[in-house]
Amino acid sequence: MPAVFLGHGSPMNAIEENAWRASWQTLAKQLPRPRAILVVSAHWETQGPAVTAAAAPGTIHDFYGFPQALFDVRYPAPGDPALAARMADLLAPEGVILDPARGLDHGVWGVLAPMYPGADIPVVQLSLPVGLTPAQHAARARKLTPLRDEGVMIVGSGNIVHNLRYWRHAEPRFLKAWDDFNEAVIAEIKAGNHAALADYNRLAPQAELSVPSEEHYLPLLYVTAVQHAGEPVEVFNDAGVGAIRMTSVIVGRQR
Ligand code: ZN
Repeated sequence: MPAVFLGHGSPMNAIEENAWRASWQTLAKQLPRPRAILVVSAHWETQGPAVTAAAAPGTIHDFYGFPQALFDVRYPAPGDPALAARMADLLAPEGVILDPARGLDHGVWGVLAPMYPGADIPVVQLSLPVGLTPAQHAARARKLTPLRDEGVMIVGSGNIVHNLRYWRHAEPRFLKAWDDFNEAVIAEIKAGNHAALADYNRLAPQAELSVPSEEHYLPLLYVTAVQHAGEPVEVFNDAGVGAIRMTSVIVGRQR
């Protein structure tokens, strides 16, 4: 089963007719249909590792200042408590908390609602534990690789370049920094250089302008880390405006 990192951008992409949403719809039609979907989103950080374990996870609207239509979205995909338990086993001895109450945040349903509007594929979300280095995130992600052979699609949802401070007023003087970082990350993705992706601060000058905080970058590592040696990798949606790039990655799609 391929693994996919999706640059998610604005929550409005979940319901707005635009190129990003269309690309997610097309992608879902091209990929093999998963038995279940495991999502790591930028929008769930926890003190200790956690995974959603509800049989029917709710829809979390973790944003404000958006139209009512976005708050009205429900994504009633079933959970998969057995998969959640399997993930905890694979991640042992981490002591992953099986969270019976947590729902799916907009980093999850924002991309899955366009991809799988029927909401009929079970979804489990894995949190980003705070306090780990990017290399530690990648190492734990690698432990989840066997799930790919069990029909589980691993999806990372974030943004490689994400600086909300300059979202509305992209500073021209920073454009080169964002371009350089985006291109450097893409080069390492294509080279399969996982160590360099974890050590992202060294990839380009002023990387902190692209990754002022790590939560939108880290989901990328959960996808690149499960790449087998020599497996094909594709980059798409390599565009976006200023401080947000939608650059996305497919690992392991056989053509
Ligand atoms: Zn986000």
